[in-house]
Amino acid sequence: MLVSVLGTLAAIASLTIIVWGLPKQIYLNYKRKSCEGLAPDLVYSAFVIYLFWGIYGWAKPDWFIFVADIPGAILSAILVYQLYHYGDRQKRAEFWQKQFAWLKPDYILGSLLQLDISTLFRYSGRVYLVLDLDNTICLPGSEEVDPRVVEMIMTAMNRDMVAGVVILSNTIFPSKKREARVARVARLLGAEHVCAIRPHHKPHPKALLTAMDKLPGALPRNTIMVGDQLFTDIRLARRVGVRSVLVKPLGRDAAYITWKRWLETIIFRLTQWR
Ligand SMILES: [Mg+2]
Repeated sequence: MLVSVLGTLAAIASLTIIVWGLPKQIYLNYKRKSCEGLAPDLVYSAFVIYLFWGIYGWAKPDWFIFVADIPGAILSAILVYQLYHYGDRQKRAEFWQKQFAWLKPDYILGSLLQLDISTLFRYSGRVYLVLDLDNTICLPGSEEVDPRVVEMIMTAMNRDMVAGVVILSNTIFPSKKREARVARVARLLGAEHVCAIRPHHKPHPKALLTAMDKLPGALPRNTIMVGDQLFTDIRLARRVGVRSVLVKPLGRDAAYITWKRWLETIIFRLTQWR
């Protein structure tokens, strides 16, 4: 009789951790997609202990032991899987982040509107902005700029948080029409403009250095490059040593850019930057 009572109490005590503790840990790992802070040795030994006791309970047979331990073996097996799945994922991401460090943006934002100029100003003082044009400020071929972007830039300049702005746009071939469009958008923002022509186009360092020359006082430490492409805007910023902000493209790209977007998608998947 006493043995049965003790067995029942032991089974209830074991079920507490199975019903509450282990599922909670599994859910937490699932939510944060990580097993950080969880000691692998503890998980592996818990799995082995639960499994062996469960098998013992089945072989004896002792259904108290079996019922108390088999669910624990199943749940700790899930934890073992999570350690493998998320642990590997983190290591894989870290590996790829090292490989693509030459393309890493300092900040990744949804759009130019999310650029927190007052925080930048608080930490770094007055900044100089170098902005990409197509798909960062306006849609390719368009001159329509979101009025909120205009207001944001103008306000920051009036408050002396932004010392100067230049629009830096690649131009495959010299084109007066294109240059006139870039100039018109720049005027709208009270900015300078530079059309970078092959072979000194983005990501050639000369493109950014030419743009910075338009802003007296602009140095790598106080300049921020904002653009929507890893291989041109961000690569350029890293080459020159200025901070970079990657924004999501505003809309569809020209056909010749599509292949770069595929590569970007692969890089984002591998590095988990976005
Ligand atoms: Mg662009």
